[in-house]
Amino acid sequence: MLQVNNLSAGYGDIIAVRGFSFSVEPGKILALVGANGAGKSSTLMCLMGLVERKAGTILMNGTDLSDMKIEARITAGLAIVPEGRRIFPDLSIRENLMVGGHIVAESVMSSGIDMVYEFFPRLAERQSQAAGSLSGGEQQMLAIGRALISRPQILIVDELSLGLMPKVVDQCYGVLDKLKSEGIGILLVEQNTERVLDVADDICALEAGNLIWSGTANEAQKNTSLTKKLMGVH
Ligand code: ATP
Repeated sequence: MLQVNNLSAGYGDIIAVRGFSFSVEPGKILALVGANGAGKSSTLMCLMGLVERKAGTILMNGTDLSDMKIEARITAGLAIVPEGRRIFPDLSIRENLMVGGHIVAESVMSSGIDMVYEFFPRLAERQSQAAGSLSGGEQQMLAIGRALISRPQILIVDELSLGLMPKVVDQCYGVLDKLKSEGIGILLVEQNTERVLDVADDICALEAGNLIWSGTANEAQKNTSLTKKLMGVH
């Protein structure tokens, strides 16, 4: 389980998120929602050690990751599908997956690659193709696959559906569902509020770096002032 206590994060003098506490449990999806600039991506990146933590602690199964380097956080069970996918366009699909597995044992990497190909047969069919020549949806599949190679206990996903066709979005969510049923905890940022309320178990709503609401997705759906706010209806 990922337990985040009183996290503040930012960039120099800019505080992007303040005093934020939450936890992600095995087999559950927690979604962070909020307007542009609310601090969602900064929170995710801070968990990986890619944005400065100003205060608070990040615990994974009781181990304090707060000051660890990204590799150690991955070894401890975190992995991220970053916003914009960040695949290596000149490397092949297989090579991109190997990048995701560079810190794990050879055998883990190779069974991980097989697992990704099972999830996404399209990647298997194109494994020698340069990743930059894939469609947006295929690139997102690759980004998810790359994050799975290290067998994370908690998968962090930033903007899963951004710019993707509905069919591909469904497929990616299908994979998240499967991971969830295997006991992986998922921390999700997603612009599509309707979708988020549908797939998430729990919701944290952020506004200008502050937590303004948290509860189950069912509770969120019934809270009309919250849903209006999240969907930008005033
Ligand atoms: P979006 O949905 O637009 O990605 P977000 O909720 O993910 O929004 P963040 O990207 O975390 O929000 O931004 C939170 C705050 O941190 C904003 O005020 C933003 O301007 C600031 N910020 C983000 N990245 C940087 C950076 N590299 N340098 C300085 N400030 C930044």
